[in-house]
Amino acid sequence: MGPMDILEDWLKGRGQLDSKLVNYYSPAASMTEVLKQLEQILDDHESLGLVYLDIVNFTGIEQAYGFSLCKRILTELTKTILEVKPHLGVGRGMLTHNYSGDDFAVYCSLPQGEIGLVLDFLEEYAEELRRQILKQVNESLRGILRDPLDLHIGWAIVKPNSQLSLESLVYNAIKEALAMAKGHSDAKWTRRVWELKDTMAKGNFEVHYQPLVNLESGSLIGYEALARGPANSYFASPGILFPFAEKAGLLYQLERIIREKALKGCHNLDQDRLLFLNISPSVVKDPLFAKGYTRGLMALYGLSPYNVVFEITERTAIQDFTGFRKILQHYRDQGFRVAVDDAGAGYSSLQAIAELQPDFIKIDMSLIRDIDASPVKQALLETFVTFGEKIGAKIVAEGIETEKELRLLAQMGVHIGQGYYLGRPSLEKREPSPEGTQLLSTMKSRGRGETIHSLTVGHLVEECSSLPKEALTKEAMKYFQRHSDCNSIVILDGMRPVGLVMREKMYYHLGNQYGVALYSERPISLVMDQDPLIVDASMRLEKVSQMATSRPFQRLYDHIIVTDENRCLGVVTVRSLLDQMTKIQMEYALTANPLTGLPGNPRIEQDILRRLERQQLFNVIYVDLDNFKAFNDRYGFEWGDKAITLLARIITKNVQEMSCSDDLVAHIGGDDLIIITAGPFTRLCEKVIRDFDERIGDLYTQEDRRRGYIEAKDRGGHHCEYPIMTVSLAVVECWPGRFQHPFEIGEAAAEVKKRAKNYAGSVYVIDGERVRDLTVS
Ligand code: C2E
Ligand code: MG
Ligand code: MG
Repeated sequence: MGPMDILEDWLKGRGQLDSKLVNYYSPAASMTEVLKQLEQILDDHESLGLVYLDIVNFTGIEQAYGFSLCKRILTELTKTILEVKPHLGVGRGMLTHNYSGDDFAVYCSLPQGEIGLVLDFLEEYAEELRRQILKQVNESLRGILRDPLDLHIGWAIVKPNSQLSLESLVYNAIKEALAMAKGHSDAKWTRRVWELKDTMAKGNFEVHYQPLVNLESGSLIGYEALARGPANSYFASPGILFPFAEKAGLLYQLERIIREKALKGCHNLDQDRLLFLNISPSVVKDPLFAKGYTRGLMALYGLSPYNVVFEITERTAIQDFTGFRKILQHYRDQGFRVAVDDAGAGYSSLQAIAELQPDFIKIDMSLIRDIDASPVKQALLETFVTFGEKIGAKIVAEGIETEKELRLLAQMGVHIGQGYYLGRPSLEKREPSPEGTQLLSTMKSRGRGETIHSLTVGHLVEECSSLPKEALTKEAMKYFQRHSDCNSIVILDGMRPVGLVMREKMYYHLGNQYGVALYSERPISLVMDQDPLIVDASMRLEKVSQMATSRPFQRLYDHIIVTDENRCLGVVTVRSLLDQMTKIQMEYALTANPLTGLPGNPRIEQDILRRLERQQLFNVIYVDLDNFKAFNDRYGFEWGDKAITLLARIITKNVQEMSCSDDLVAHIGGDDLIIITAGPFTRLCEKVIRDFDERIGDLYTQEDRRRGYIEAKDRGGHHCEYPIMTVSLAVVECWPGRFQHPFEIGEAAAEVKKRAKNYAGSVYVIDGERVRDLTVS
């Protein structure tokens, strides 16, 4: 007779085998049978508790004491399990499944009520089981076992839901309980997981909205949705909530619940406002997400994909950028936009951002904090601004808390701001703070040190005529007939331009035999240009003119639509654009150096003044030739000019290749040139020197080159040897507050130049008083 037979006898004796679901013992039953039993318990109960237990070092005991003692232990253990009654008057439905050796799963029905109480019940029951088993078994084996027996014990909840089969629920619960039993997780963790599941089932979350503000105009752009767990609970802060959900494998469901809440809360959002939603990369990749994100859900709340920006955080989780970009493209094609969150926070790299090609780059608040007092942070942010310009992304500064931070960010040309100073997250969608908007509007009215070279297309915008996209072609015809001076109509979806009708093109369309009959009663979308050139008001004139003139010939003179945050502001005609460009060119030409074509002193001064006013960090590099005079005297002016042009070409080429679009190369006069750059300069200086040293020899005769010097007379008429020309670069670092006026920079440069001239050969020298404590806090 085996241990199971003994047990069955024992059980039969107690008459418990046939009573439905009460202390049912199922030795080595198949999983199918167990599931059938559990299903029955669940007929009457909301959820089941599972206590998993096994004996510590059971194999060791078997080896030391033999199989028959082990059988006795198992019998005692089973008996005790069946005797321990879960209290609170519940747990009537019970099933014990000994599914192999010393592994037991005890299932019991759970009481209904608050999740905390249910968890208390289950935890106490498991503890009681452990106490009783150890007491009974160890007492009955007293004197036989050298060390008292111990148990691994863990527990979990099985709660049916519509998405998972009972089988996988039970399987997951066994895994959870096993993990607890083996010490991979603990009761506290499991309790938290169930608290979270409960909160999710009840939808007990709030979404707060924080305003994002256009730093140039001070106007509201939209809101970021920020989740909040139940107040005063462990999950109140999203900083705990989301990482926990991810660890517990609940992130996908959680994000869905929050997203729906966030969208629902925006049913009254203005058409041209944006809603920024935080989304984890793992969720974006999920095919379920793609399916769930149909326009249906948004349409339900009166939103279109154009209103929504996905904020992608934790780029560490993205391994395959190409694949991820493809997925994002799927959403972009529908009109959604993408932001990269927390840029500049530790793990992010510009490379990663470039790969994603986001529409917005959100700069982490660690970089914004006290930026007004940190030249290094300014330099870093400047890199982001330039980088954003290059890849066509707008920069959002997060966590702006003070007036000083806001002022500096606006001056630096950061597009969008967010932070307590502009408005805290709140349940209602509030307007930005009056102090924030007021500061921005005063700054705007004073202007921000604009020069003709930083003119944007917004300055040229003209009022335009518009029709809604639902209008009929005949309405446009009528409009053109009545307004002979109007040459274009912008077609709008809400405030967002979606097409352009140019007068002569429309008549061309309608000009054939049946044109009018065919189109006049039909929507304007049939005759409009569906892909007109649309640019943001902040785009520089040079860039717009480049885009406009690279259009195909037939569209070359079509008007350019100008927007601000996707809202139509008006149009710019190609004629006014070209006029303005010509003016700029003329101004350039007037002050340019006739030899090198580079801008001259007025431009240098203007550029330095602009940077000083904006409190930027920049470097001024004075460049001049060594032994130029002797070369000029010996070879003549024509060759002297050649040397200067060579230097200018080398500098321009390297600056273009290496630095920011905002850098300036200018010609002071004679053999003096200047570079003004916001970027790093070491490599630039080294490259200029290398190129120059490599090529300058070409201007000398073979004989001079071989000798390495020329012979000429010095100022006193003595015979002297002058080495082959070299180049000296004097770098003056200009951090905010160091200089007030361009001439002070000139004075500093003269000093550095002097030092540079003391060295033989080509060199670059950086000025003495460098800031020592340039550390990012
Ligand atoms: P985040 O997306 O970078 O959000 C900005 C965080 O900065 C928010 O914290 C916001 O309340 C806080 N904040 C805004 N302005 C200021 C300021 O001036 N000073 C300071 N000190 N903080 C400011 P919150 O709401 O605690 O959210 C923390 C993070 O949790 C978020 O960082 C985001 O990564 C995540 N999160 C929040 N809601 C969601 C969500 O619905 N889904 C996902 N996946 N993540 C979310
Ligand atoms: Mg965010
Ligand atoms: Mg962020």
